[in-house]
Amino acid sequence: MPIRSSALQNQIKAEIVFDTHPEISLDLKHVRQALKKGYDKPFLLVDNSIIRHKIRRFKAAMPRVHPHYAAKANPDPRVLKTLIEEGAGFEIASIAELDQLLNLGVPAAEIFYSNPMKSRAYLEYAASKGVEWYVLDSLEELQKIVSVKPDAKMYLRIDTPNIGSDWPLAGKFGAHLADISEIIQEATRLKADLAGVTFHVGSQCRNPQNWRVGIERAKNVFAEMCSAGLNPRLLNIGGGYPVRHVKPIPSIEVIAEVVNAAIADLPENVRIMAEPGRYLVSDAACFVCRVVGTATRNGKRWMYWDAGMFGGIIEITEGLRYQILTDRKGSDIPWSIAGPTCDSVDILAHGEMLPKDLQEGDFIYIPNAGAYTTAYASNFNGFPLPDVVVI
Ligand SMILES: *Cc1c(COP(=O)(O)O)cnc(C)c1O
Repeated sequence: MPIRSSALQNQIKAEIVFDTHPEISLDLKHVRQALKKGYDKPFLLVDNSIIRHKIRRFKAAMPRVHPHYAAKANPDPRVLKTLIEEGAGFEIASIAELDQLLNLGVPAAEIFYSNPMKSRAYLEYAASKGVEWYVLDSLEELQKIVSVKPDAKMYLRIDTPNIGSDWPLAGKFGAHLADISEIIQEATRLKADLAGVTFHVGSQCRNPQNWRVGIERAKNVFAEMCSAGLNPRLLNIGGGYPVRHVKPIPSIEVIAEVVNAAIADLPENVRIMAEPGRYLVSDAACFVCRVVGTATRNGKRWMYWDAGMFGGIIEITEGLRYQILTDRKGSDIPWSIAGPTCDSVDILAHGEMLPKDLQEGDFIYIPNAGAYTTAYASNFNGFPLPDVVVI
């Protein structure tokens, strides 16, 4: 039976003071069941019923906000199908994602092209397939979209604070306050249908106030659009809803309280949507890999897993802290953890407290790993992609 390292257990206990809402994760009995059939490479075990639970919970918390799943978080077709059955719309960055969704029967009108930098060829393709809504955050992108599809419905991505997000995005995308007026004026001049506002608070955002600030800024932009003669009717509050790993998070209900209050005075004709990625799929899955070997180097204990940053466990290198479970019960010591490749960047952690008796062949279980794992994996150095197993 997988157990938590004692240090982690204490940490989780300490956090309960701040963080008492229940979250459902994949039951590890399913992992044990799956391992009875043998093991040949790392895999992600996905429980579809948890995905259904998460999207229902999201909708219940924010009844006016329609979720459009960010396909990049986990584009497995079975995951997408489950979300389609639950009535989700989608948000895409590329035409491969578009094709995948169209082939699964999603109407083009439910697919929002939310990548602020789109190639002309991709735009032409998306327009030919009937995609209606396109994001922009610059004058040049506005002109590009209008030159390809003069009747496109567009939404302006604005800059918003990323305070308290594990992946702050501010700076890369989002029209700055100083640039918004010019974009609105140009849309009016081009008689373009600039019809909405969006923002992205950054991924794994643990500060609900970021959504409030984003919505308030969006309302100001709406007002400016109206006075310029535009007809704003879409508010897209983006992604970023956090999932539990080792740090405390606000529940979706806590975030919803802030969002629902902020949108309460928006007129009925304003369509409100969100783009949850991580939130809908993370908790539904457990990543399973194995210790290839251990070594002592200059007094430091190292272990090497058969999946590292190229095998799907990449967010750990960007600062995300996963829970790591094992079957060992020895006392914890600090481990350096690396992946199986020969690349010097393929190191997952230093000083990770895990049982000292871990050894070759032991399984490693990473709960809540359904987002941004398998989607990132590559075959680098000849190692196989992790399997995705869906129950
Ligand atoms: C990645 C992305 C999302 C989803 O982000 P999560 O943090 O997974 O919720 C939503 N919107 C856009 C534009 C994105 O790029």
